[in-house]
Amino acid sequence: MWITTLGSHCALQVLKGAKDEGFMTAVVTERRREGLYRRFGFIDDFVVVDRFGDVAKPDLQAALRERGAVMVPHGTLVSEVGVDTVEGGLDVPIFGNRRMLRWESDRNLKEKLMKEAGIRLPRSFATPEEMDGLCIVKLHGARGGLGYFLADGPGPYRRKREELEAKGLLGRDAQVFIQEYVVGVPAYLHYFYSPLHRRLEFLGAEKRYETTVDGIGRVPSSLQGELSPSYVVVGNIPLVLRESLLEDVYRMGEDFVRASQRLVPPGSIGPFCLEGVYDAEARFVAFEFSARIVAGTNLYVNGSPYSALTYGGEQVSMGRRIAMEVKEAQASGSLDSVLT
Ligand code: ADP
Repeated sequence: MWITTLGSHCALQVLKGAKDEGFMTAVVTERRREGLYRRFGFIDDFVVVDRFGDVAKPDLQAALRERGAVMVPHGTLVSEVGVDTVEGGLDVPIFGNRRMLRWESDRNLKEKLMKEAGIRLPRSFATPEEMDGLCIVKLHGARGGLGYFLADGPGPYRRKREELEAKGLLGRDAQVFIQEYVVGVPAYLHYFYSPLHRRLEFLGAEKRYETTVDGIGRVPSSLQGELSPSYVVVGNIPLVLRESLLEDVYRMGEDFVRASQRLVPPGSIGPFCLEGVYDAEARFVAFEFSARIVAGTNLYVNGSPYSALTYGGEQVSMGRRIAMEVKEAQASGSLDSVLT
């Protein structure tokens, strides 16, 4: 059996983990990145495409199926291939519940699932007139927070919006999503739910290093003036949480899994991430979730403090944890519980 993924995002970690568990590995890579992936000995085969969208082509899917390949989905599958294709046009077994990817991609479904889980969310406002404090204005389908802006009332909102429209960064009738800005510290919580063991594992935490928001503090406040932050992720920084926060971390993860089982059966399978901010009282407020492995897990190729606590001496990355679940499901004849 093979494990495959698109050559981007967390492909190295996923394929290294698969190799450590004894699988054959294939990367679906764009031609321009083939050289990068050939540097690593744990990749057995290279499926070269002009662009990631080509993965939906029938001959390519057939080639993956012939190998008995399981595809591990990540952010690039969602952004470059798209959920419509993943749901309706990708006839390759996927690790996890592929229907969850739509819930991650649609803001309304996303909010619905987080509310069902009882997770604390920032307030959202239907119109700029309703804003009653500092808000973050998000574009639908924006990637990496590009074009997001902050405003603390309808006046500043209109001014900033006009500026972005004039620069061509925002369409005149583009729909935006206005959300309360939670002042606190960002944290991204990496979970794995095992349907085989019916167990939630917390495997790591991280914070993102985002430009320019993490750079604005390097400019004296008197000169910060109208610098507007952007939120393009350039890397990830490891984080360990205060131990007293952990009980809540597990509870939120379990509530999320149960809510996903009710709304998107069979529910969460494998990795997911709750993304939010610890507010002034150190309460977690979630502004997002990802229903698949996140790139921040790349920090923990050799395992994280939390995977060490869960798995003793073993170095269990999220990529390896996925491969462990596939291997176990294969051995016990229950691949149906982990693949869709
Ligand atoms: P994307 O999914 O496009 O990457 P996110 O919704 O994750 O966008 O937001 C990008 C960044 O904006 C986050 O990493 C965080 O720094 C910040 N952010 C988003 N929503 C909020 C919020 N409600 N309060 C505070 N900061 C936020």
